[in-house]
Amino acid sequence: MIVTKFGGSSLADAAQFKKVKSILEMDSERKFVVPSAPGKRGPGDDKITDLLYAAHAAAKEKKPFKHLLERIKARYAEIAEELKIDIDLDGEFAEIEAALKSGIPSDYAASRGEYLNGKMLAKYLHMPFVDAKEVVRFTRDGHLMEEETNALISERLHNLAHAVVPGFYGADEDGSIHTFSRGGSDVSGALVARAVNADVYENWTDVTGFRMADPRIVPDAQFISTLTYRELRELSYMGATVLHEDAVFPVRKAGIPTNIRNTNDPKHPGTMIRANAGQNDHGHVITGIAGHKGFSIVSVEKDMMNAELGFGRRVLQAFEEYGISFEHLPTGIDTMCVVVHGKELEPHKEEVLARIQELVNPDTITVSDHLALIATVGRGMVRNFGTAARLFTAISAQGISIRTIDQGSSELNIIVGVDEVDFETAVKAIYDTFVRM
Ligand code: ASP
Repeated sequence: MIVTKFGGSSLADAAQFKKVKSILEMDSERKFVVPSAPGKRGPGDDKITDLLYAAHAAAKEKKPFKHLLERIKARYAEIAEELKIDIDLDGEFAEIEAALKSGIPSDYAASRGEYLNGKMLAKYLHMPFVDAKEVVRFTRDGHLMEEETNALISERLHNLAHAVVPGFYGADEDGSIHTFSRGGSDVSGALVARAVNADVYENWTDVTGFRMADPRIVPDAQFISTLTYRELRELSYMGATVLHEDAVFPVRKAGIPTNIRNTNDPKHPGTMIRANAGQNDHGHVITGIAGHKGFSIVSVEKDMMNAELGFGRRVLQAFEEYGISFEHLPTGIDTMCVVVHGKELEPHKEEVLARIQELVNPDTITVSDHLALIATVGRGMVRNFGTAARLFTAISAQGISIRTIDQGSSELNIIVGVDEVDFETAVKAIYDTFVRM
């Protein structure tokens, strides 16, 4: 049995609704459907969720917001009319308007996009509608209660052959609505997949899966057919954004694979993400490359640092005191480098450096800003000789100097730091070496 989640662009208008229906008809195992709110129909268009947040913000400031609700309603009305879906939008929007006037929190407003889309889709597909409010449980302060949710969903869907469960939101025990962070319908889909013990969690979107590199840098980057959850974690940490980060945990735990599929190209098998996978079928050692800019490195040097008990802890304490979390920690015998997000360091830079000085009395402290990190990820790297050598050679052949290197003991990932200006060239060079040669 398959749980399908359809993203906003997959349900942006009536034509997309029709594609969703035909995808469901193509495989009778596709029984449970988790929709997002209608997204952009093209560049420059609005996402329903953004309009709902805007309406809520206006209402909060006692500014007019009715015109925004009218725009949202018109989007639904157009779909309903074209597909002959019988829904009382006047009644629904009167309720939303009254709630906004009463000062209801923004989570409620934002959730109405999925709620209404779920109702429409359920009618269109002739499936029961299960309100996420009843089955996705949050604490009063807005944290997901995963085990309670799992029990509620599985109990509710147990006797249903099909159902539509809207994504993105749930409620606490008092019935107040809470949402996940943006893009959170992915999480809802994963929760439903776990609760019904699906064979596959299909995540339908507008791209044909993950690519081996960002297509803005490598326009013809190959698609990745199989990815492990661990590789996915490494790639998404570095900025590969196809799936919400939190959508991994429920399905991974339950041993359910996630299949990224393209609603506009349903025959393409997309990317399959599993707990374990064999060698890459394309025969390359690496699975993918991801990275981003905006890091800083603070290097602390002191003779005999290695023999000084508690040195590392005290350096990190300086960052912790200012609420800065470290991303990587490459260390040498007498140096310790702390890689952090530049944005987090910038406002407290002087204080942090002074504090390090005070806590460990180093010989030198240097800061390099405007660094980009690039992660080259691949389960095949463990068994392969010379991957690091090829990687470094590829980068240095471009005349780029590597500012930092970090290879976790998992050997799944080698991270290099380069100056931001060299980022794109370095990514291309790595791709060329491992994929094109
Ligand atoms: N509609 C919500 C958003 O735009 C959630 C989602 O699409 O997953 O963030």
